[in-house]
Amino acid sequence: MATTTTKTLDDLFLDTLKDIYFAEKQILKALPKLARAAQSEEGKAGFLQHRDETQGQIERLEQVFEILGKPARGKTCEAIQGIIAEGEEITEEFKGSPALDAGLISSAQAVEHYEIARYGTLIAWANQLSLKDAVPLLQANLAEEVATDKKLTQLAQASANPKGKRAA
Ligand code: FE
Ligand code: FE
Ligand code: FE
Repeated sequence: MATTTTKTLDDLFLDTLKDIYFAEKQILKALPKLARAAQSEEGKAGFLQHRDETQGQIERLEQVFEILGKPARGKTCEAIQGIIAEGEEITEEFKGSPALDAGLISSAQAVEHYEIARYGTLIAWANQLSLKDAVPLLQANLAEEVATDKKLTQLAQASANPKGKRAA
């Protein structure tokens, strides 16, 4: 027999909003650490720029909570904790190595992909739930994550070819 519950898509939307709100706050704390660890100036600058964007993303999420009439509260996201812990492990284990920045970039991309997944879902649900004012806020966050992901890919390619050499 199927289990019935009174939970709805509205509850799932709120839960997922709390998940990404928690995640963004963890990311806000992790980005300055990545900036400190990065060897390249572009890497450092990129992580710090995204830290500032993340602050704005948190504010947009607070506006979404306001639209729902709910207090802005995070819910522990073990996925982002794991991704960030993996990044810290790479930072430790590859300290002083020429592969360090490649490792930091790969960790940062795992973070961005988690965020992209969450925002894609939240936008689809906000549309289904007719939360019209929430959609542009979530889309603005998604656009920044996608742009960051692209920048990280370029950074990875540049650090793989430090002398501007292109792979044959
Ligand atoms: Fe973010
Ligand atoms: Fe999560
Ligand atoms: Fe991000």
